[in-house]
Amino acid sequence: MVQMNGQEPQPLDAHLQAIADAHRIDATHLDSRAASLQGKLRGLISRPSAARLIVAKMSLRAGLTNYLVEHSRHVSGMDLSDAMAVAQQEAANGRRVSVGYWSQPSDRAAAIAAEYAKAIDAIAQALPGASISIKADQLEFDRALLFPVFRRAAERKVPVHFDSQHYDTATRAMAMLEAARDLGAEVSASLSSRWRRSVQDAERLMALKVGIRIVKGQGGDPTDPKIDPRQSFAALVAQCAGRASHAGVATHDPRVAGPALDVLKAAGTPCALEQLVSLPRLDALAARRGIPVQVYVAYGRFGLPYALSELTRRPAIAGWILRDLIRRLLGSRSS
Ligand SMILES: Cc1cc2nc3c(=O)[nH]c(=O)nc-3n(C[C@H](O)[C@H](O)[C@H](O)COP(=O)(O)OP(=O)(O)OC[C@H]3O[C@@H](n4cnc5c(N)ncnc54)[C@H](O)[C@@H]3O)c2cc1C
Repeated sequence: MVQMNGQEPQPLDAHLQAIADAHRIDATHLDSRAASLQGKLRGLISRPSAARLIVAKMSLRAGLTNYLVEHSRHVSGMDLSDAMAVAQQEAANGRRVSVGYWSQPSDRAAAIAAEYAKAIDAIAQALPGASISIKADQLEFDRALLFPVFRRAAERKVPVHFDSQHYDTATRAMAMLEAARDLGAEVSASLSSRWRRSVQDAERLMALKVGIRIVKGQGGDPTDPKIDPRQSFAALVAQCAGRASHAGVATHDPRVAGPALDVLKAAGTPCALEQLVSLPRLDALAARRGIPVQVYVAYGRFGLPYALSELTRRPAIAGWILRDLIRRLLGSRSS
């Protein structure tokens, strides 16, 4: 029964009640939403049909949410121990590894620094040759927090990789990298091909004989938002070929990765294909060329907000989500 304002309760439509029962939805709630939809459609459809449409929309939204929860997080789990287990497995399979803590919005800079310290210790103990990937701006470029991290990494011989973060803070990140190097840490850095400044940054890193990880990058260049990340990726690769001490090709885009590895290999530049642990991997593409794979094992932050922001910026992700949902539907029908 539905209680109308100041009126007698109205009996629920039996069909609508059945739909609500089948989907374990509160029937009164469903009825009121169906009534609203029916009103918007000027009574063109019956109340149960409106209820079916609402249920379909709810199912699709639940499916999308589940997909994003499962797939959008490039993180391997919530804890360092989860990341270490994944990283050790990758290392056992012959891949190089970089472990990175992706902080949560509520994390204070000091807590992030403490997590970096823990990760350095764990890597030194159980993952020889692996590096730590850090985001210096999340420690607010605070020397009191960052320098102990760099010293610890230097002492434990764990290389420190600087992820590419925000365009506005890139100059400070480069300065921090040089400070870490001066403190004795082995360092390397990501360069975003979406940024025009990366051409100069690459020159600086090559002069320092610091390894470069080339990424398409997530944030655009405010001074030149129309840069084509594929073309500029290829241009950065060409700039590094024959000159960089090491170049990481960090992309899951086969049209970019294959040619980039070919150019670097032909120039005799030490290189690797670098992959995020949870995106569809291109390991075979590197194996065919006899080039090593390095895997970025991220842990910590739940990545849903990242994926949602990506979704609005990159409509292609909606296509990947849809493709996965269809595969699942087909899979669940055939099973
Ligand atoms: C090792 C590594 C380190 C990185 N470090 C940084 C960094 O420091 N700073 C930074 O800004 N960015 C970084 N990135 C992210 C990178 O810049 C891109 O945002 C990301 O890799 C997607 O771009 P792409 O080059 O792989 O090609 P895309 O064309 O975007 O993707 C290639 C394929 O990957 C799959 N894919 C990509 N994204 C998704 C998704 N969200 N959900 C499902 N499938 C997806 C699809 O199959 C797609 O066809 C890093 C990436 C890698 C691999």
